[in-house]
Amino acid sequence: MTGKVYLVGSGPGDPELLTVKAKRLIEEADVVLHDKLPGPKILDSIPEEKREDVGKRAGGEWTPQEYTNQRLVELAGQGKTVVRLKGGDPFVFGRGGEEAEHLAANEVPFEYVPGITSAIAGAGVAGIPVTHRDHVSSVTFVTGHEDPTKEESAIDWHALAETGGTLVVFMGVGKLPMYTGELLSAGMAPDTPVALVERATWPNQQVALGTLDTIVDVRDEDGIEPPAITVIGGVAATRERVLAFLENDPSDGNGE
Ligand code: SAH
Repeated sequence: MTGKVYLVGSGPGDPELLTVKAKRLIEEADVVLHDKLPGPKILDSIPEEKREDVGKRAGGEWTPQEYTNQRLVELAGQGKTVVRLKGGDPFVFGRGGEEAEHLAANEVPFEYVPGITSAIAGAGVAGIPVTHRDHVSSVTFVTGHEDPTKEESAIDWHALAETGGTLVVFMGVGKLPMYTGELLSAGMAPDTPVALVERATWPNQQVALGTLDTIVDVRDEDGIEPPAITVIGGVAATRERVLAFLENDPSDGNGE
């Protein structure tokens, strides 16, 4: 008897931004394996008895990826219907690719259920379109925090500076001084607008706006913490032009 695993994206955190399919699968699942990224509203709506947290454990230790991989295979082997719930989209910096490969290698049937990535939604709720006909014709998603076991950075920040497009950095709060420094030294203009969007669509969403040479100070003054995305490029300034009428903004009590 083999069950099935659904690799499901939860979207950025607002329960209304779950897909219809994600919502149904969560309701029908025997077990939901998750970390903290789907956010408190979505997680609190799932009955405790079918939730298994495979994120950070008490004491601050991360559950090893191997454990999660094995647990998925084990539960499916028991005939269970399993939802592996991930923030945003499962295949965008979410290790969904590794899990899909592990499931396939172990002959476990699975389905991929897309979610709205925080790269697009997180920028958007802050009034920032990731592309804009007047400003940019490309957008790049990049991680600010690579696998620490890698010897050399695979990210060529100088090349990214050259694209002239929008950059959206995931997991980039801690390393902000590193990559803003790299982009500046690559010749990107110091007054390039930069936004940090923390906990987009969560009840305590926070947005901070600065420029390439001020954003580290802005981060510290505003106390921006993970999870947050960094949006770099001319589009970030759109926020100022639309803010007064943007009803997603936390200053309007969005999500409260
Ligand atoms: N699969 C996810 C990304 C997982 S990597 C997605 O598609 O969105 C984890 C990083 O995602 C965080 O460090 C942060 O940079 C970003 N992130 C995820 N949810 C977020 C949210 N609600 N608000 C801001 N950033 C978020």
